[in-house]
Amino acid sequence: MTLPRIHILALGGTIATAPDASGAMQMGLGADDLVAAVPLLARLADIRAETVSRVGSHSLSFDQIHALAQKIMSLDVDGVVVTQGTDTLEETSFLLDLLVERDIPVIVTAAMRNPALTSPDGPGNLLAAVRVACDGWVKVHAKALGVVVVMLDEIYAASDVLKIHPTRLNAFASPQTGPLAVLVEERVVPLSLPVRAPVEAARKRLGGAPEGREQPVALLWLGLDEPGYILEAMVDHRDQLGYRGVVVGAMGGGHVPERVASLVGQLAEIIPTVVSPRAGGGPLLRQTYGGPSSEIALRKAGLIWGGRLNPLKARVLLQTCLRAGLDRSAIAEVFDVFG
Ligand code: GLU
Repeated sequence: MTLPRIHILALGGTIATAPDASGAMQMGLGADDLVAAVPLLARLADIRAETVSRVGSHSLSFDQIHALAQKIMSLDVDGVVVTQGTDTLEETSFLLDLLVERDIPVIVTAAMRNPALTSPDGPGNLLAAVRVACDGWVKVHAKALGVVVVMLDEIYAASDVLKIHPTRLNAFASPQTGPLAVLVEERVVPLSLPVRAPVEAARKRLGGAPEGREQPVALLWLGLDEPGYILEAMVDHRDQLGYRGVVVGAMGGGHVPERVASLVGQLAEIIPTVVSPRAGGGPLLRQTYGGPSSEIALRKAGLIWGGRLNPLKARVLLQTCLRAGLDRSAIAEVFDVFG
């Protein structure tokens, strides 16, 4: 029986760390080391392992993930597993989901507990990811699933998964939708298929992986009584600051403190500015509250409505739209489909 060809691309992260002389963990391991730690992999798949980088995911760049997407597009294999750090996994997996057009399983996994600890989760997560990549239901639905994240025996859609805890083992969840499937014994047990219409509509507008250059997007998370000094600086010195777009982590269903409402409106006039729920995701209101800092006023003022994407994912989407050269109204249409 020929085994499925699964290509592992290793980027770094806790899963790839080893202690240095002082005992501090450094990104020392490559893809071959990760595979060597899980002998069972050879029984499941014809494994090819490639070290792409040894970088903590907190330091990965958009350019690196664009290059990774290109690589995934070029591989002649039956499935791809990316290993990386957990810190930005919710962002990189969503970016890959926007960029990679394949009908094979593409899976991202990582580890919360490093290999020097008594019970590291990296080997188990890698084994689970390869199992998922080889699974019949996953293969048949690869396009319908898009890029998925496998952590702690659960499978999540890249557009929904969030890192919800900085250290504990069960640090990942899809609070809005729940997991797509779970691993039990050696089986993948399907639970649901994701609603892909918003991502597919976005991908159509993006027209494949955009060639353009980095388009920095600022993320402004608004808190109680925010005085708006950063907003003021962005309005007054937009060209010096270099940002090409802004995501506002707004309160509740899409509100900002009244004292910054007019600044937010001015910002939206000069730069694509997306409102996204600081509550972590979920559809925003559109037509319930009145007053100068309400969703009705902000939408009238030209703010782009971010839908159910949480601010980190909205930032990834806005940056990708800008890189593809989309203008404000095209960007608003892309976000509109997200609810
Ligand atoms: N900060 C590192 C990273 O994201 C390690 C954290 C982790 O992998 O969990 O790559």
